[in-house]
Amino acid sequence: MPATRLSAPVGMHDVLPPDSAAWAEAVTRFARLADRYGYGLAVTPILEHAEVFRRIGEHTDVVAKEMYELTDRSGRRLALRPEGTASVVRAYAQHRPTPPWKVWYVAPNFRYERPQRGRYRQHWQLGVEAIGAADPELDVECIALAWATATEMGVPALRLLVNSMGDPEERPGYLEALRAHLRRAGAGLGEAFLARVEANPLRVLDAKDPDWQEVIERAPQLAEHLGAAARAHFEAVQAGLRDLGIPYELAPRLVRGFDYYTRTTFELQTDVLDAAQNAVGGGGRYDRLVEEMGGPATPAIGFAMGVERLVLAAGLTGRVADRPRLDAFVIDALGPDGAREAILVLAELRAAGLRADRAYGGRSLKGQWRAADRARARYGVMLAPAELARGAVVVKDLASGGQVEVSRSALVGWLQARTAPAGAAPPPPPAAGEAVDP
Ligand code: AMP
Repeated sequence: MPATRLSAPVGMHDVLPPDSAAWAEAVTRFARLADRYGYGLAVTPILEHAEVFRRIGEHTDVVAKEMYELTDRSGRRLALRPEGTASVVRAYAQHRPTPPWKVWYVAPNFRYERPQRGRYRQHWQLGVEAIGAADPELDVECIALAWATATEMGVPALRLLVNSMGDPEERPGYLEALRAHLRRAGAGLGEAFLARVEANPLRVLDAKDPDWQEVIERAPQLAEHLGAAARAHFEAVQAGLRDLGIPYELAPRLVRGFDYYTRTTFELQTDVLDAAQNAVGGGGRYDRLVEEMGGPATPAIGFAMGVERLVLAAGLTGRVADRPRLDAFVIDALGPDGAREAILVLAELRAAGLRADRAYGGRSLKGQWRAADRARARYGVMLAPAELARGAVVVKDLASGGQVEVSRSALVGWLQARTAPAGAAPPPPPAAGEAVDP
């Protein structure tokens, strides 16, 4: 009986070549950018004690409805990470590195959501956390890095929304006013609405339910309840963004999905994604979370961007697919006795930093050229008896079909002069208004 054909869990995806090239591009670029801004890599476990994630908010959808929890063989309650900040803050509180501590990460997150385009049960995030400074200029740096990430990758029609959540002391007064409005204006919206108003009215503000939107739009705004310090901080952040020429919009109802935010919150949206999935990234300050995680009182800020959404919005898959994937493909026309030569040429090209490959399994000449095309090589380098006897190889430009003879000893230099080092040439961003690939 044939074995059952297995597949990945619903809402979770394999990312394989050639599409994974766009991912490699996104992650590599982000790693380079974060490095330039002074952030080091942090790698934390995918599993944490479920308690770690409860600190991001018992009443958030992510914790209350979407978390993957499990009991291990010793009876510990563990959870798969649903977001990045909690794990990094836990690591900070545990190891107490010298602040300011600036780290970046790339990691999968798990949320039991209703899967749809741009929304998955496993998604990947690129992000940073900067822990140990309350300076509004750190907020500006953090937002500037998020902005650079999206713009350098070529996300079109980008919008930066900013808001301030104020300080925790200002929250009760605002929540009081918000609750009073929601109770009054939303009396007819049913049990689920009213339960959420009582449990955590902030979580009403970021709810997507279309029936609730009118009441949400008329809700009192956080900005009206900010104290002097939070207001000055927010103004300094905006001044910094203006200095850097980063355009932003004030979004008085941007509270984001977790309970830990204080002061600055921000989100990057693009009009090229569906409205419900239009956020490519977001973040904000969380000045109390380190303490709540058992560490010393330490202000901090961070952001995360969805890799799938960045790749989709920037149309990276199509742009990266158009580039040659290899600089050279070695074609062996020497027959069985010449196999060593192909191995040597290939080793030499790779040692010189060129991206090179060959076919295996004694393929016919025609089969090897076909393999070179399929591998999206820029040049075919053919080793043939007559040319090799003269100390030369045949190099064919696979796009134009043009062919030249190149001396064997000059081959590496010849190819290097005509191919860019891997990752050096960024693919051009799509023109404004250009459609993204599905
Ligand atoms: P969050 O941790 O919810 O603030 O999300 C940060 C970013 O991760 C969002 O702006 C999205 O780009 C991305 N993201 C969040 N949830 C999902 C999901 N279920 N599927 C794909 N991307 C997601």
